[in-house]
Amino acid sequence: MQRIYFDNAATTFLDARVLESMMPYLTEKFGNPSAIYSYGRESRMAIETARKSVAKILNAHPAEIFFTSGGTESSNTAINAAVKDLGCSHIITSALEHHATLHTVEHLHQAGRVELSYVKLLPDGHVDLKDLEQLLANSRQKCLVTLMHANNEIGNMLDLHSTGSLCKLYGAIFHSDTVQTVGHFPFDLRNTAVHFITGSGHKFHGPKGAGLLYINENVKIQPYILGGAQERNMRAGTENLYGIVGFAKALELATVNYKEERAYIMDLKIYMMDILKKQIKNVCFNGDPLGRSLYTVLSVSFPKTEKSEMILFNLDINHICASGGSACTSGVEQGSHVIRAVNSNPNQVTVRFSFSKYNSKEEINIVVDKLNEFI
Ligand code: PLP
Repeated sequence: MQRIYFDNAATTFLDARVLESMMPYLTEKFGNPSAIYSYGRESRMAIETARKSVAKILNAHPAEIFFTSGGTESSNTAINAAVKDLGCSHIITSALEHHATLHTVEHLHQAGRVELSYVKLLPDGHVDLKDLEQLLANSRQKCLVTLMHANNEIGNMLDLHSTGSLCKLYGAIFHSDTVQTVGHFPFDLRNTAVHFITGSGHKFHGPKGAGLLYINENVKIQPYILGGAQERNMRAGTENLYGIVGFAKALELATVNYKEERAYIMDLKIYMMDILKKQIKNVCFNGDPLGRSLYTVLSVSFPKTEKSEMILFNLDINHICASGGSACTSGVEQGSHVIRAVNSNPNQVTVRFSFSKYNSKEEINIVVDKLNEFI
């Protein structure tokens, strides 16, 4: 039986054209980018070409683009730098952030280095911007606001511009985890009030272990990995040459047919919502799936029964890949912190389906047929 892959928010497969762009740098073009001879210079050139391409796509300056190992490193770096180098001693975040953010801010808080506030959420899981403004207005310290652009479990999207403008008004540093949106939405960083954003190649058919940290040119942070002059002295260590080349190629490809691909994937999401509603009683959807939401993510809660509790297992043995996310509070399994924050119903089982341009309605039909058996 053929595998059906509906877990594209977790990772995506490497596009063959991306692999092709990387191959020379995995084989004959292996020179160290720091070396002065021609093989080295060729590698350096490949990295700087990639940087320019990424910067152009995001409408940023190449000097604002730092290549990293992925979203986790980028968010860790931005948050720690805001505290260590930019004088932020109050962090405002939300309970829905990825652990790359939550664990970092909790660590800083536990170490006594920052005050930590969680912004209120609206009933549909969106950040309450009025509460954010209140928190900013009441703070006597320099704030770091770290709020994700799109949630990887329920798909809710933040209004980056309004949030950035609020941060600007109150002199706060703004970091946004944009791992689920870089490669999926257009960016215009020159006209967006944000200090740090992040990206991860494997979320848009690029390689794993290759990511980006955008640092606005008006922000000056200190080197964070020591031992070499790579990435303009910030991040020492021989560069992930083929990863960087692959990251840029994947971002270029994601941009070419963006509008058509977005419409195609959105249509899949709506189609799945429609047939689930028609065929499965008491099914519900988390977040704001038809509003400000990722077109790639659909978080579905099914009524909890003995049978439906086995849903992920049953999907797996039928070669269907999807992710868990449960409101379970039995103590044995903590479940997803995101689902717990937005859905207080313990009698539901939640599954995240996430799509790419390589999925089809035929696959959705097969999955929904199977779901009917498993509920
Ligand atoms: N932030 C979000 C929203 C994510 O979905 C992920 C991926 O799981 C990450 C951060 C971590 O990215 P990476 O796997 O590149 O470290």
